[in-house]
Amino acid sequence: MISNLQKRDLAHVWHPCSQMKDYEEFPPIVIKTGKGIYLYDENGKQYIDAVSSWWVNLFGHANERISSALSQQAFQLEHVIFANFTHEPGILLAEKLAALTPEGLTKVFFADNGSSAIEVALKMSFQYHAQKNKPNKKRFLALTDAYHGETLGALSVGGVGLYNEVFQPLLLDTVRAQGPDCFRCPFSERPESCSTPCISFIEEKLKQHHEEISAIIIEPLIQAAAGMKMYPPAYLKNLKELCLKYDVHLIADEVAVGFGRTGTMFACEQAGITPDFMCLSKGLTGGYLPMSVVLTTDEVYQAFYDDYETMKAFLHSHSYTGNPLACRVALEVLRVFEDEQYIKVNQEKSAYMRELAFQTFSHLPYVGEYRQTGMVGAIELVKDKATKEPFPSKERVGYKIYQIALEKGLLLRPLGNILYFMPPYVITKEEIKTMVDLTNEAVQEYFSKAVVEN
Ligand SMILES: *Cc1c(COP(=O)(O)O)cnc(C)c1O
Repeated sequence: MISNLQKRDLAHVWHPCSQMKDYEEFPPIVIKTGKGIYLYDENGKQYIDAVSSWWVNLFGHANERISSALSQQAFQLEHVIFANFTHEPGILLAEKLAALTPEGLTKVFFADNGSSAIEVALKMSFQYHAQKNKPNKKRFLALTDAYHGETLGALSVGGVGLYNEVFQPLLLDTVRAQGPDCFRCPFSERPESCSTPCISFIEEKLKQHHEEISAIIIEPLIQAAAGMKMYPPAYLKNLKELCLKYDVHLIADEVAVGFGRTGTMFACEQAGITPDFMCLSKGLTGGYLPMSVVLTTDEVYQAFYDDYETMKAFLHSHSYTGNPLACRVALEVLRVFEDEQYIKVNQEKSAYMRELAFQTFSHLPYVGEYRQTGMVGAIELVKDKATKEPFPSKERVGYKIYQIALEKGLLLRPLGNILYFMPPYVITKEEIKTMVDLTNEAVQEYFSKAVVEN
């Protein structure tokens, strides 16, 4: 039975990343409240939010500390123009981010969401080179299967066909290099001992095009939207060296992996590198408000710093740039991190999840592998375990398992054939067990039915 609110939703709301016709049979679930890792719908049914509501939530829904910081800020100052004006939450946040991120990232530019942070980094990199008398550096190098958001610039550097194929005629002319693919490694390397021979795909492109390339953009350690494709830190380390050798910027898109997802506060830390730009969003506000930042170096900043008449300023703004509510919330998120020692706390949870999920899933006939980095775990379903042949996307295996899991009170949101866990950090060991068990039930149920049907 479709509820009144569901009916009214379908009359006017156009949902993201959805074929709206699917909603005829599967109407949107109306969520009324959230608490910790749980969401509650209009009938009181409970769901475990195993995907942190599209990777944004860190410390649970309706978190006491964050909600109260937000509320207090709302009664003090909700917003102010950020050109020529500033405010304490923005200043404190910039200080803290500069201190927490890799050494050398000292300047913080505010934007509204992950995609707009990417636009900022691309524009800054291009303008930097133009102002350094290298106007030919106007292309970007990006990896296959990359995802950097869905505004046109961000889409141009993205490599997930599903999102950018239709818009190809509108997009920038990006240089594309084959990215790492550890599950189906063309060099048969093992992640533990990998010498990253696949970095040669990037070097080939750089040899050919470095004079016209402004920056390389990459998702450090996990290509998330591609299906949680994971690769070792050595790749990033070698990539940074290539960037120095060929005089191109490195843009680290940590929109998804930042704020502890990979086990360290930022993924770049594991490679010991400082990128020229670091884009952060999603976890930045703990899942409360849309905001992003781009951190960069003094070297980049100085290329824009001059007398007004030289017209070297970076002219980019959003109405809500540096929104005080979002800044105050982000500041509280960083304080919770510190006070509760989450990077440390997560180590134990992550080890538990790895062992449990590995034991539960990796031996199953249709599971190619279970992989995990920090607090992100992924189950790659395959049609044929020996050849790693994927299920055809038309079968919508992930989507059907998603529906079964929802029935059981678990919100997974598979990426094609890849089921993944990216839970809020407040999840307990017992809740991790429930999440894994429910996923296992949903997977078993789908495949026992699928086998009967075939
Ligand atoms: C989600 C995401 C983006 C885009 O962020 P939005 O806030 O959705 O615009 C960019 N890069 C990566 C790696 C992401 O996961």
